[in-house]
Amino acid sequence: MSPRVLIVGAGPTGLTAAVELARRGILPEIIEKRPGPSRLSRAVGILPSSIEIFRRSGTDTPVLDEAVRFEGGVFHDGTKPVLHLTLNFDARMRIWGLAQDRTERHLVETLERLGGSVRYGATLDHLRETEDAVEVRVGGVEARHDLVIGADGVHSAVRAALGFDFPGHDLPEQWSIADVDAPDWHGRGRFMGYRLDGGNVAVVVPLETARFRVIASEPDALAALPVPMPVTTVRRSGAFIISVRQVARYQSARVFLAGDAAHCHSPVGGRGMNLGISDAAELAERIALGTTEGYTEARHAAGAHVIALSERGRRFIQAKGPVARAGVLAAMRTVNAVPALRRAVARQLVSG
Ligand SMILES: Cc1cc2nc3c(=O)[nH]c(=O)nc-3n(C[C@H](O)[C@H](O)[C@H](O)COP(=O)(O)OP(=O)(O)OC[C@H]3O[C@@H](n4cnc5c(N)ncnc54)[C@H](O)[C@@H]3O)c2cc1C
Repeated sequence: MSPRVLIVGAGPTGLTAAVELARRGILPEIIEKRPGPSRLSRAVGILPSSIEIFRRSGTDTPVLDEAVRFEGGVFHDGTKPVLHLTLNFDARMRIWGLAQDRTERHLVETLERLGGSVRYGATLDHLRETEDAVEVRVGGVEARHDLVIGADGVHSAVRAALGFDFPGHDLPEQWSIADVDAPDWHGRGRFMGYRLDGGNVAVVVPLETARFRVIASEPDALAALPVPMPVTTVRRSGAFIISVRQVARYQSARVFLAGDAAHCHSPVGGRGMNLGISDAAELAERIALGTTEGYTEARHAAGAHVIALSERGRRFIQAKGPVARAGVLAAMRTVNAVPALRRAVARQLVSG
């Protein structure tokens, strides 16, 4: 008999876990405390590893139909272009851009096609693991499940119920985000990175043909841009603090953590959502095969690798002090001058 699985959280991680279990004949219950689907774009970049996972359930087709293909990027020192990267040199090695709420929508539709559905407005209040079950209380109602997946994000209630620490640190500066319409912006299909004074950075990422995401390591993303952006509409803006954290264990006997519930880091490299999607796919496969005991080892290593990569990239572009900044500038110029290095950096950006 299939295990009764409860997934807490219908972000990209929980939805991928639900789809990957459902297509193997294990229809999970998935609860989400939001009253309905999210309307926040958050993650944009979808890596080939995620597209490959989506392909197994047919979710790749609607995602790719709607996504923007990133052609490449230009890194600037202030306003001066220094490094031009091409990302379309290999058909299998592309990054796609789609607002996270749209990716989630396509996963929900796949889940519904497989016979499942998300229970919105349902909050996990309590969880207790016993020898033969996991007892939960959702919206005041008690239930028992064989297994629970905590895909409930950075402030995970499942992680708290397990009593697991979330070691790491918060970055000192405030970062900001703005989603805007800017039909006349020159960076269609390409992301634009700007190194600013004091080790700050601003990036513009295409979301749709005329819709862009601006992220900066300063409190006002649009004000941080060193070149004027002809914005017609600001759809959303806000500021946030970045945490760099990872749990030591991703599982107890019957309860598993995946996605941001298990790890978080800066948006540099655009890895967070993709890492959660990979956690979810591996966990679903292990649950179906009955091999969950190796889950922590496999996914902790993958998470630690991505966090190290993202932090290396962040420290590189946020280099402070004249000597370090001159070194980074020289490195970018060298990469720009050598096609093989440009391809190697592009491959690093795309590999999931
Ligand atoms: C500004 C910004 C930009 C980003 N850009 C990128 C990018 O370009 N590429 C990338 O890969 N990543 C990016 N990320 C990171 C990415 O958004 C996250 O890694 C991703 O959302 C994690 O997915 P998740 O499903 O694990 O968690 P979440 O998306 O946080 O989903 C968790 C869900 O659980 C629900 N929940 C929480 N508690 C409970 C409860 N008790 N009961 C029921 N439901 C609950 C929440 O409502 C939420 O919907 C970005 C993040 C930010 C903030």
